[in-house]
Amino acid sequence: MSERRQLYKGKSKTVYEIGQPDELLVEFRNDATGGNGAKHAVLDDKGRVNCAFDAFTMAILAENGIKTHWLKSVTDTEILVRRLKMLPIECVLRNRAAGGICKRLGIERGRVFTPPIFEFFLKDDALGDPIITEDHILMLGLANKEELVAMRALTHRVNEILQPVFAKVGFDLVDFKLEFGYYQGQLLLGDEFTLDGCRVWDTQSGEIYDKDRFRQDLGNVIHFYKEASKRLGIIIGEVPKWS
Ligand code: UDP
Repeated sequence: MSERRQLYKGKSKTVYEIGQPDELLVEFRNDATGGNGAKHAVLDDKGRVNCAFDAFTMAILAENGIKTHWLKSVTDTEILVRRLKMLPIECVLRNRAAGGICKRLGIERGRVFTPPIFEFFLKDDALGDPIITEDHILMLGLANKEELVAMRALTHRVNEILQPVFAKVGFDLVDFKLEFGYYQGQLLLGDEFTLDGCRVWDTQSGEIYDKDRFRQDLGNVIHFYKEASKRLGIIIGEVPKWS
């Protein structure tokens, strides 16, 4: 791989330019953050687990017709991706109530949403990533109507694809967050799909297997990440051969 130049260091991933104008290298680090960065820890093996988990979910989505930024694994913590122009918007899909929506609407944790609920959030750390309406997004000029419709539809489609994958191994996919961006005029799924950005509960026991273990100090975060991965058939540290 040619010379790399750090482009951006996020809370748990670092993005590098690698000399190819249309591609970037993404490194999954061991850092865990919560409360918009207020809580921080370094958790052994987190980068490897998240990298493998992301490869698994992105591959399933691609097989099912979702266009993503994911190109290939490079090492057990690094992937090559298409370079997207990201929209500063988070798309959240909820199959059950947890986290923010319980506080916001005063509803009980675990309530099932039929149909699932979709929400937009503004990606802005200084503002604390507030929930926003389509009108807000249009007013701010962050995306156009067509893009909003596409992001909503793609997020529902991702749920239709992944919910059964989790259900098959005894997990409830409670909610998740997606981010999209543009690549050569096409809207693609970017960012990541790992246990850092979704909620996954054991269907029988209700045990939490996602980043709420870290946010709520439930302990054994990476143990549970690895257990969830194992149940889904994800092999951590396996790097597919270069094509
Ligand atoms: N989420 C995320 N990044 C964020 C905010 C939320 O990945 O900056 C994910 C979170 O892990 C959960 C879903 O989006 O799976 C919905 O989160 P919620 O709105 O309930 O936010 P929270 O209360 O967890 O901050």
